[in-house]
Amino acid sequence: KKKLHSAGFEHEDKLLGGLLSSRFDQDSCLSRYESASYRKESPYKPSSFLISKLRRYEALHKRCGPYTESYNKTVGKLRSNGMIEEEASDCKYLIWVSFSGLGNRILTLGSAFLYALLTDRVLLIDRGVDMDDLFCEPFPEVSWLLPLDFPIYDQFKSLNQKSPECFGSIVSNNSSSSSSSSSGYVYLHLVHDYDANDKLFFCDQDQSFLQNVPWVIMKSDNYFIPSLFLMPSFEQELLTLFPDQQTVFHFLGRYLFFPRNPIWGLITRYYNSYLSQADEKIGIQVRVFDTRPGPFQYVLDQILSCSLHNNFLPEINQNESSVTPKNQISKAVILTSLSSGYFEKIRDMYWENPTVTGEVIQVFQPSHEGYQQTGKKMHNRKAWAEMYLLSLTDKLITSSWSTFGYVAQSLGGLNPWILNKPENETTPNPACTKAMSIEPCFHAPPFFDCKKRSGIDTGEVVPHVRHCEDMSWGLKLV
Ligand code: GDP
Repeated sequence: KKKLHSAGFEHEDKLLGGLLSSRFDQDSCLSRYESASYRKESPYKPSSFLISKLRRYEALHKRCGPYTESYNKTVGKLRSNGMIEEEASDCKYLIWVSFSGLGNRILTLGSAFLYALLTDRVLLIDRGVDMDDLFCEPFPEVSWLLPLDFPIYDQFKSLNQKSPECFGSIVSNNSSSSSSSSSGYVYLHLVHDYDANDKLFFCDQDQSFLQNVPWVIMKSDNYFIPSLFLMPSFEQELLTLFPDQQTVFHFLGRYLFFPRNPIWGLITRYYNSYLSQADEKIGIQVRVFDTRPGPFQYVLDQILSCSLHNNFLPEINQNESSVTPKNQISKAVILTSLSSGYFEKIRDMYWENPTVTGEVIQVFQPSHEGYQQTGKKMHNRKAWAEMYLLSLTDKLITSSWSTFGYVAQSLGGLNPWILNKPENETTPNPACTKAMSIEPCFHAPPFFDCKKRSGIDTGEVVPHVRHCEDMSWGLKLV
């Protein structure tokens, strides 16, 4: 059995095969050095090209990050509204605007970072209400947080598809020279409601216009990486960075997202109290997209059907006269859900009845927050802690369409069983489907052939970009 972990426990692969920089102060972010000792070793290894790309990025970030000489100079271009001709600065930026649920934010920020890597931009993030509370600084020495005195910070909220700086309207009007140079930035609208013009972002011809824009400001609630793999200008580099395409978010997520110490405390205390001693740890992520509070019987039936048929959990023995075999194997189930109903029913089922195998089943649920409360600090801390705890399990069941589950599966390197999306409040049959890969699904991909300027099924172009198991029009890397 695994030992209890204590702070200071040194794991030999604490830099995750060279993925992480060694230039950090350990105490400021305990999870960066301790997380490896809570996980099984990943079967995936980062490519040397990815490692050197990250080190080069870190050097760029240090040279161009907040309040560096280059940063100040480039900010000057915004202040002067592009009116004064200044000498070209050597740094270009991508600003990620905080927006949407936490799972969505983690996936889009990962996507933004990869886009920044591919285009030699420096990634700076809008901290929103709590990005700085949830995540450690990922790059050594210089912050990734956009300074609060950034000149147009207060305009972020109002940026939308109708803004004159919006990429979609600029490329469709062919007015590239005027709008962007007058304001000094371009706004990228990659939100699920984006239109055909905004989607031209995924066409090489239209990308070229962004090349010389010093400030690109992005809003997105989507994991758009699969479509970057379909762009000839990025394809070769992406395939070299990620020879195994299903590891993209696994590595980017493990590189970028470390829980800050208070959240690491939530994770480790929970893990050590409830999970560490079990022979097998099972994660069940229940996300019900129904506005009524629940719990719903058809969802409970679905969770049980998936768990029992796929050997996550043993059947119970309702025949009181039969003898239960002796079995020392223990399984700990961590179930996450906004409602406590599913957890209570499953826990009671294994209290009130013996299992046919004799295995000991413990069922736990960290929180039951009732409903999504995006602006609240402790709520989001718990959401982050729970995604992370799910990623520390051995086997995972997730819910369709949920970015919360995608984060857990990719970070953990777990190929989950996905609960199929129920229709008409009935338990689907089969209850769940085994995922093809550990990657998240891009929910709103473009279906456009940039060369022919016509519609195309982007899930049929290359073998490693396919339609998702849980959303037939989505795209994922496999
Ligand atoms: P998605 O909506 O499932 O794609 O995931 P998001 O994370 O983007 O948004 C859902 C939000 O609802 C989370 O960020 C949490 O705030 C909350 N939430 C949903 N499910 C859970 C859960 O199981 N536990 C906790 N603590 N919060 C949850």
